[in-house]
Amino acid sequence: MQRILQEAEEEQEEEEYDVLVIGGGIAGETASLDLADMGFKVLLVEKEPSIGGKMFLLSKVFPTLDCASCISTPRMAATAHHPNIKLLTYSEIQEIEKLGEGDFRVKILKKPRFVEESLCTGCGQCEQACPVIVPKEYDFGLRGRKAAYIPFDTAVPKIAVIDIDHCVFCGQCERACPVGAINFLQKPRIIKARVGAIIIATGYKLFPIEKKAEYMFKKLPNIITAMQMDRLLAPTRPYNAVLRPGDGKEPMNIAFILCSGSRDRTVGNPLCSQVCCMYSIKQAQLLMGALPLADITIYYMDIRAFGKGFEEFYQQAKAMGVMFIKGRVAKIEPGENGDVVVWYEDIENGGRLRKATHDLVVLSVGLLPNPEIVKAFKNVKLELDDYGWVKPRDENISPVETSIPGVFAAGCILGPKDIPDTVLEAEAAAAQAAAYLREVRRHG
Ligand SMILES: Cc1cc2nc3c(=O)[nH]c(=O)nc-3n(C[C@H](O)[C@H](O)[C@H](O)COP(=O)(O)OP(=O)(O)OC[C@H]3O[C@@H](n4cnc5c(N)ncnc54)[C@H](O)[C@@H]3O)c2cc1C
Ligand code: SF4
Ligand code: SF4
Repeated sequence: MQRILQEAEEEQEEEEYDVLVIGGGIAGETASLDLADMGFKVLLVEKEPSIGGKMFLLSKVFPTLDCASCISTPRMAATAHHPNIKLLTYSEIQEIEKLGEGDFRVKILKKPRFVEESLCTGCGQCEQACPVIVPKEYDFGLRGRKAAYIPFDTAVPKIAVIDIDHCVFCGQCERACPVGAINFLQKPRIIKARVGAIIIATGYKLFPIEKKAEYMFKKLPNIITAMQMDRLLAPTRPYNAVLRPGDGKEPMNIAFILCSGSRDRTVGNPLCSQVCCMYSIKQAQLLMGALPLADITIYYMDIRAFGKGFEEFYQQAKAMGVMFIKGRVAKIEPGENGDVVVWYEDIENGGRLRKATHDLVVLSVGLLPNPEIVKAFKNVKLELDDYGWVKPRDENISPVETSIPGVFAAGCILGPKDIPDTVLEAEAAAAQAAAYLREVRRHG
């Protein structure tokens, strides 16, 4: 694909929008909808084939246990169908140049899907015909997908993509497609646009926990990340049951290890990821419902239940029988029959080193910044903080303004946070972008 992308042709015409929103997760969708409802023309650019971000992939949300996809799916559809929003998926920002206040020139690389968007009906027949299977990114490798694929059933837009790096060019998809939508000659395009303001909502990356070698991720089959556990519990889950990936057995003794890759200078991430305590407690409660006979243990350093209703949610998990052990897990070893042995410091019982055996271990991985967008700014500098998160102009009085006037940020690009705080920031960024545009246009 990299070679094909170099052949991108630049379009001559420049499209005009009031606001460019970068990133189609819950932050980007919310900001786009707010601005579009106010009458502004929005260009929303998402690098993946579907909008939805991480929220769409979750099971339920803490502390209310509302269904995540029931909240996010209507918002994804509303975003795509709003007459004031132009949605570009599978697209990346190449260049942003500030020409003056309220005036940015942007270049966007539209990657080829090798499927004609105007023809594809999302029927999935190409997917069924394709013989190639590779790990599915949206399920974090828990199951496979084809080289010709639709990202997921409720993808927005529901249009197929050909993964050209894995395609063996057998032509089966082309023969199966009832509308002739497959087009292997499709080229990448560079779309040019002028926008008045920008909102960055590119979210976070998951901590690559294989960096913490003593936790044996990818070395032992029955160690998964919390994102994988959220997928196992979601309505759109891979196995339609909670099964351990190593052998398909129903786990009966599950451990969560909090702060996996957070508050840990040994792996270069000293920050608290803010959501791991609560999402682990959420998953523990959901597991108690899904597997009523299973034992659930949470190994923690501190439980940071700081939000509204969080402490009650924590106490509820204890009352349901989730076991909480205060102690940092020092190392993990293979046990018998695919089980996992966890060595930990038992802080509340004299700090002794103890070991316990579990049949499934969930690593509650932390959140890392996603700052690639910085490189797109050509003649202005988007400042980051010491840890790589976008730095607000003033943390106290302007938390969604960035170092560049006219460029705002919202959600996890500014630092780890939960969905309600992300939505609040997205609404604030939309309001600030609207105020900025009105101000520069009044004086312009
Ligand atoms: C395991 C786990 C469970 C969680 N459970 C909960 C929960 O129960 N309740 C809760 O409140 N929070 C939960 N969270 C936190 C929640 O995921 C975040 O609060 C939320 O997803 C933040 O939304 P966002 O839009 O800022 O970022 P994201 O969801 O990361 O969305 C960012 C979007 O931007 C796109 N993007 C990235 N880079 C670019 C680019 N260069 N150009 C264009 N597009 C780009 C991405 O593809 C993505 O679509 C959980 C987190 C994890 C890891
Ligand atoms: S041509 Fe490629 S995408 Fe199409 S069916 Fe064959 S392997 Fe799959
Ligand atoms: S490319 Fe063709 S076969 Fe594949 S989903 Fe679209 S319409 Fe259906």
